[in-house]
Amino acid sequence: MTADPVAAPSIEAFRDEATRFLDAHAPKRPERRFVWGEGSDHVGLFEEKTAEEEAAEVAAAKAWKAEEFDAGFGWITGPARYGGRELGAEHQRAYAALSRRYQIPSQSCFGIGLGMVAPTILAHAIDDVKERYLRPLWRGDIIGCQLFSEPIAGSDLAGIQSRAVRDGDEWVVSGQKVWTSGAQFSDIGEIITRTSPDKPKHRGLTMFLVDMHAPGVEVRPLRQMTGGASFNEVFFDEVRIPDSHRLGDVDGGWTVALTTLMNERAAIGGGGGGLSDLGFERFSAMVEHFGVADDPLVRQAVADLYTNVRVAGYTNQRAMAKIRAGQLPGPEMSIAKLSLTQNMQRMAALLADVLGPRLAADTGEWGAYAWSEFVLGVPGMRVAGGTDEILRNIIGERVLGLPKEPKPPA
Ligand SMILES: Cc1cc2nc3c(=O)[nH]c(=O)nc-3n(C[C@H](O)[C@H](O)[C@H](O)COP(=O)(O)OP(=O)(O)OC[C@H]3O[C@@H](n4cnc5c(N)ncnc54)[C@H](O)[C@@H]3O)c2cc1C
Repeated sequence: MTADPVAAPSIEAFRDEATRFLDAHAPKRPERRFVWGEGSDHVGLFEEKTAEEEAAEVAAAKAWKAEEFDAGFGWITGPARYGGRELGAEHQRAYAALSRRYQIPSQSCFGIGLGMVAPTILAHAIDDVKERYLRPLWRGDIIGCQLFSEPIAGSDLAGIQSRAVRDGDEWVVSGQKVWTSGAQFSDIGEIITRTSPDKPKHRGLTMFLVDMHAPGVEVRPLRQMTGGASFNEVFFDEVRIPDSHRLGDVDGGWTVALTTLMNERAAIGGGGGGLSDLGFERFSAMVEHFGVADDPLVRQAVADLYTNVRVAGYTNQRAMAKIRAGQLPGPEMSIAKLSLTQNMQRMAALLADVLGPRLAADTGEWGAYAWSEFVLGVPGMRVAGGTDEILRNIIGERVLGLPKEPKPPA
């Protein structure tokens, strides 16, 4: 459903409409406060599911997304032409705040497709491709993944080797990607390829949208140290992609990649300074439960963590205000992502101090060993979407104006 943008509802009318939809389609979240020892003690950062659990979660996520979209709440700020409602960020925030009060199936499987691939399609695809993919992505009918990293190219993304060779109206792609989150349930992928090996490395790349079910695409799961397998290796063996599915110019893929990477940092780091999902409530309850709430060093570390989360939250709000004002996400997003992982690292260090051996061996005690999944997930967060070191380089060069990092010749 798309509303007439001329007849945009007032915020009050929109809230009433959203409340009616949510009341009719989802149970309310109980208002009970967190109580130590009750409910699940899961605090992991990555998905640790069996294939069956994951399939059920994806199905539930898709069913909810379709209902939400059909009721006019799927893509609140998007252009009406592609299924959006063309309302402002205030309407978006109002809906997000209301929907948090309801028990809605996890929407995490859409994070990359909607947070990174869809904005890149909107910015760089031809109209036919926007019409073909944006609505199904936002309705949850299809899921997108990001096919950038390769075994020899991560931070140095422009060093990728997957080749795309033109054949009439099509391109033939061969190569290997790695660390592709969610490839196992994705329908389309945004893939960066090398089209002109003879040009300087940043100038010989081209971006495409690839059908993940096309002949020649093979997805193999990779297991992470916490046990689950949320990412994959993806092999491409002479996979054919129509030229219409090119994003941006031939050999102009680096510019397109930057759009995706900035949106990635906004998507990872933009959540209000991080740790908001876990909450201080659970963390401080843990400190109290294990009897260290009066330890001056622990108190100082908790205060330091709290201060840094608040500061990151304010910085993020400034960056988000810029985006809402129509500007592209810039190096502020690198600050947001770095702040998030720095805060996670502070928290992991404090957890190790407080829990000690309880983090290494499971005695069955509620809220003890469970934190090990968080601690083991932090290094992954520090690498995904730009490592801490790379983000420091970006902040040094583009925010602080420091001299550029010396680079070897291309
Ligand atoms: C949880 C997770 C999910 C991911 N999901 C995806 C995905 O969906 N799609 C995708 O394409 N990729 C994904 N990645 C891959 C991710 O983008 C890369 O891991 C990341 O870019 C780093 O690349 P690399 O692993 O090759 O490490 P490298 O680039 O080899 O880095 C190794 C170390 O060297 C340091 N280093 C490298 N260059 C410099 C430099 N110039 N200055 C200082 N230090 C430097 C790095 O900081 C790091 O500590 C994911 C990774 C993780 C952990």
